[in-house]
Amino acid sequence: MEIYGLTDVGSVRSENQDAFATGRLADDVLYAVVCDGMGGASGGGIASRLAADLFAERMEKQYRPGMPEASLFHLMESAVDAANVGIFDKAAENPDLAGMGTTLVAVVIDRENAVAVHVGDSRLYRLEKDTLKQITTDHSVVQEMIDRGQLTEAQARSHPRKHFITRAIGVEGTVRCEFDTFTVSPDTRLLLCTDGLTNMLSDDEIVSLLQNGSPETVPGALIDAANTAGGEDNITAVIFA
Ligand code: CA
Repeated sequence: MEIYGLTDVGSVRSENQDAFATGRLADDVLYAVVCDGMGGASGGGIASRLAADLFAERMEKQYRPGMPEASLFHLMESAVDAANVGIFDKAAENPDLAGMGTTLVAVVIDRENAVAVHVGDSRLYRLEKDTLKQITTDHSVVQEMIDRGQLTEAQARSHPRKHFITRAIGVEGTVRCEFDTFTVSPDTRLLLCTDGLTNMLSDDEIVSLLQNGSPETVPGALIDAANTAGGEDNITAVIFA
């Protein structure tokens, strides 16, 4: 598998507050992390860049080939904690940055085994043949309403509170992350993205764009389609193919 990623300011906003990082660890293990920052002044952009960089740095430094899955979980959780503390401390030092935070979704692929971790509403999808599955479950107000049966997924797409997340990195001294494990095959395609992509495109549009063209062109094609649909927010797409 190879990783291809792009981020774009979109068609409306003046600043891109999304960030991502990707890399190859020992033993051909791959990882990627995508973050969507929030907070006034330039806080959102600082928070997302810091989170992606701190997560990547921890993985690069401490990943060991053949780590048992429990140790990998522990490492990924410590990488999320490092991001959380880094942003929280920076915000505490600088009143202009108070309250800044970010989502985070990351995945580590060791041959056929994948481990994802996330906080907030940036997402990981897996495409197998023609079936697109959302692996992560959003930490958001509308997802909680869907879980309680108060809202359908279709209603959630246009709900006025769809941007409200229930967990974020960097806004409190500690953060709770959520893990998902799944398998991948050589034909699997994975997509990590921010809500600037998923709010603009339907699942069917995402499937056809993931299947078309050579893999390196896919992130650009996804971003172009989201911009054509309005580009109301920053847009980030990272694919494994
Ligand atoms: Ca966003």
